[in-house]
Amino acid sequence: MLILVLNSGSSSIKYQVRETANPNPGTAGLDATDGTGSDEVLIAGTIERIGEAGTDDGGQDSGVRNHTEALERIGQAVGQALHGRGLDAVGHRVVHGGERFSAPVLINNEITRAIERLNPLAPLHNPASVLGIRAITAKWPDLPQVAVFDTAFHRTLPEHAWRYAVPDELYRNHGIRRYGFHGTSHQYVAARAARFLELPEDGFSGVIAHLGNGASVTAIAAGQSVDTSMGFTPLAGLVMGTRSGDIDPSILLFLQRQGMDADAIDELLNRRSGLAGLAGNNDMRSVVEAADAGGRSAQLALDVAGYRLAKYIGAYHVAVGGAQAVVFTAGIGENSWQFRANVVERLAALGIILDVDANRAPGRTSRRISAQGSAIPVLVVPTDEERAIAEATAALVSGL
Ligand code: ADP
Repeated sequence: MLILVLNSGSSSIKYQVRETANPNPGTAGLDATDGTGSDEVLIAGTIERIGEAGTDDGGQDSGVRNHTEALERIGQAVGQALHGRGLDAVGHRVVHGGERFSAPVLINNEITRAIERLNPLAPLHNPASVLGIRAITAKWPDLPQVAVFDTAFHRTLPEHAWRYAVPDELYRNHGIRRYGFHGTSHQYVAARAARFLELPEDGFSGVIAHLGNGASVTAIAAGQSVDTSMGFTPLAGLVMGTRSGDIDPSILLFLQRQGMDADAIDELLNRRSGLAGLAGNNDMRSVVEAADAGGRSAQLALDVAGYRLAKYIGAYHVAVGGAQAVVFTAGIGENSWQFRANVVERLAALGIILDVDANRAPGRTSRRISAQGSAIPVLVVPTDEERAIAEATAALVSGL
C-alpha cells in the first residue's frame, strides 16, 4: 500500500510516502508492526517556515503562507514522484489524543472535531494536525486518513502513575494529569527490543529512553507503558535540547513574582533551557565536542542530563518490577556513544555493565552494548516513527 505519512508542526510539515506491505486485516494497531513486511520510503521531505512566506533564503520547500499551501505543495511533489500511482491512505502523527484515544483511529468529521477539542492541551501541535487533516480532506475527499497519537501508548498507565498530587478538581475541570508523549516510538521500540531478546511482545519489561531533541523515558511492564517521564506536556522529565525537564514548580512562581509573564516563562523553559541553557548549545554532537575540548559548562550539561536519566532508569526498574533491558533510541540514543556511556556508568548499583567497545562501535541496527557479565542487557534499538505510523495506517485501512 502507498501511505502518505504527515507530521504537521506549527511551522513545518514533514512528509513521507511509504510502500508498506498489505497487512492482515484485523491487526490494526501499532503492534501490527512485525518488521517482516516490505517497507520502503519512496519520497520524503519537509516544508519549513510555514507562515513566513517571502523569507525563502534559496532553499526549496520553504516560504509558504499556510498549511493549506504547504499541503498543496506536498500534493504536487507526491503526484509528480508517483507517476500516476494513487495513494491508498494518509497517516497523521497527532500529538495529543487526550484520554479518549488509546490506539490509531480512522478519521471522520467527528474524530477531527475531537482532535480539535484537544487543542488547549497541545496548542502548538493539534491545530496543525487538524489543518493537515482538513487540507487532505479538501484535496482528496475519498482518501482514508488515520490519526496516530503520541499519547495513545501511555493510556495503560495506572492511575497512581498519571495522577498529580493536586486537588482533584484540576483533573476533573482541566484534564490536568500525566499524558506522556513519544508513544509511537516507545511502542515500536518496545516491540523491536522484545523481538531482539526473543521474547513475546507482552513478555517484555524494560526501560526505553527515547533521546532526540525532545527526550522521554518509559517504563514498560509486560509490553505496556506503566510510567513515562513526560507529563501534562512534553516539558517534564529529562533534560532535553532546549527544555528543562523536571524543575521545582516554585521556580515558576518565583519568576512570575520577578515580573515574568506566562509567555516569557514558557519560552525560557521550552526554548532556552536544557542543554542550550546549560551549555549554550542544544545539539548533542556540539555539546560532546565542547566537553571533549575541555569545556566545563558542556561537561556539566552532559552530567546533569546523564544523571537525570540514570535516576529515572533506577526508578523505572522499580516501576516495572525488575527491568529485562535498558534500551536507547532516537538521534542521541542511537548515535551518541559518549552520552550512553555517561548514563550507563551511573548504573553500576543495578549490576549493569557497559561493553566499552560495543558501545563505541557504530551501527544502524538493533544491538547489545552491555558486557557479558551485566545483570541485564543494554540495547540500542533504532526507532522509526514514520514506519510505525505507515504500518498502523495500512493495518486500519486494509480492514475497510
Ligand atoms: P527529533 O526529536 O528532532 O526527531 P532526533 O531524534 O533527530 O531529534 O535527535 C536529534 C539529536 O540527536 C541532536 O541532539 C543531535 O545532536 C543528536 N545526534 C544526531 N546524530 C548524532 C551523532 N552522530 N552523534 C551524536 N549525537 C547525534
